Amino acid sequence: MAELVSQQHRVNPLTIALDQFDRTAEILHLDEDMRKVLRVPKRELTVNFPVRMDDGRLEMFSGYRVQHNVNRGPAKGGIRFAPDVDIEEVRALAMWMTWKCALVGIPYGGAKGGVACNPKQLSRTELEGLTRRFTSEIYTLIGPESDIPAPDMNTDSQIMAWIMDTYSMQRGYSVPAVVTGKPLEIGGSAGRTEATGRGVTYVVEEVLGYRGERLEGKTVAIQGFGNVGSHAAELLAAQGAKVVAISDVSGAVFNARGLDVNAALQIKNEGVLVSDLPGGERISNDELLELPVDILVPAAIHGQITGENADDIRARYIAEAANGPTTPEADEILRERGIIVIPDVLCNAGGVTVSYFEWVQGLQAFFWEIDQIRRRLKSIISRATRETIATAEKYDVDLRMGASALGISRVAEATLSRGIYP
Ligand code: GLU
Repeated sequence: MAELVSQQHRVNPLTIALDQFDRTAEILHLDEDMRKVLRVPKRELTVNFPVRMDDGRLEMFSGYRVQHNVNRGPAKGGIRFAPDVDIEEVRALAMWMTWKCALVGIPYGGAKGGVACNPKQLSRTELEGLTRRFTSEIYTLIGPESDIPAPDMNTDSQIMAWIMDTYSMQRGYSVPAVVTGKPLEIGGSAGRTEATGRGVTYVVEEVLGYRGERLEGKTVAIQGFGNVGSHAAELLAAQGAKVVAISDVSGAVFNARGLDVNAALQIKNEGVLVSDLPGGERISNDELLELPVDILVPAAIHGQITGENADDIRARYIAEAANGPTTPEADEILRERGIIVIPDVLCNAGGVTVSYFEWVQGLQAFFWEIDQIRRRLKSIISRATRETIATAEKYDVDLRMGASALGISRVAEATLSRGIYP
């Protein structure tokens, strides 16, 4: 979907992350030394490695793991497989993970990883080979006490299982807590797969509640129908919202009377593309973004709402389920137009929160019931939302700046208490 945004308005995610950091540092009056420390990643690794393809050819791949900051705990963040992943994108995403973990108050720093590849063109054996080799390449960085990967774009529980297995083979014993988002049978947590989508629902409910509104009956358009978008659709609909449009790379489907989300989910599992779904009008991804809905949920990739289309957005709320979907230029336009943006670091933090639960359960080898997980998730996400709103009010800024100020101030406090070594 990135290709839908013209070159002129495409903004590098690192530029966005740094711009947000600089503006927040101003609001917080962070001193110059603190800015120097927090602005750069602590540690980064680039690896180039070969994978033997099914037809006997050898292909080289580039992968990255960046730990932005570990002052509040081990580095945490997903690994994505996508054709255009590069070090700058991974740096930006690692930085956002640092603020996200601090914002929801879980004891982690931020990290991210990625391999530049097109997973849709790889066979299962090739995908496994690539995953295992990448894991060995970043073996020195990852570990249950140092850096814990998780699923992200185009990676899932099977890939986490291969990472866990490869790491465990090197150690000589099983180390489930080295990754989160694993399958249940090897120490995964109940509720992890749905967690990001569920978190989106909790945040939206809390923000609406604060503004005296209810989710029931609200119209919703969702861009992206992967793990995050599909669960968000299911759970928002279950709470009484009317999902009128969904999309994937193939395009979007729209029905003003509401789509049958459960049927869409079922068909998706059978491999049908969203643009082939019955029961609605076919529209493009661009058109979906501009629908007159109550809530727009970008749940695909970064850089979707830009200076080019921000004037045409007709939603009242934007719930950023993806990381970095709105550029700073668009943010400004949306703010002026009174559209409320619920920022990514808050909106999609449900995923990493249940990752934290999975890690804790794994370390204790004691597993919780799904009800307990959902209750704890709701409590963390709702509190973080209320604290974000309060911080935004304190500094008289929008929710993005409020979330950013809250996250960054917590990391700055941790950095200050630990001091400078040696
Ligand atoms: N990739 C997800 C995110 O961007 C989850 C990270 C995790 O669970 O560690 O928040």
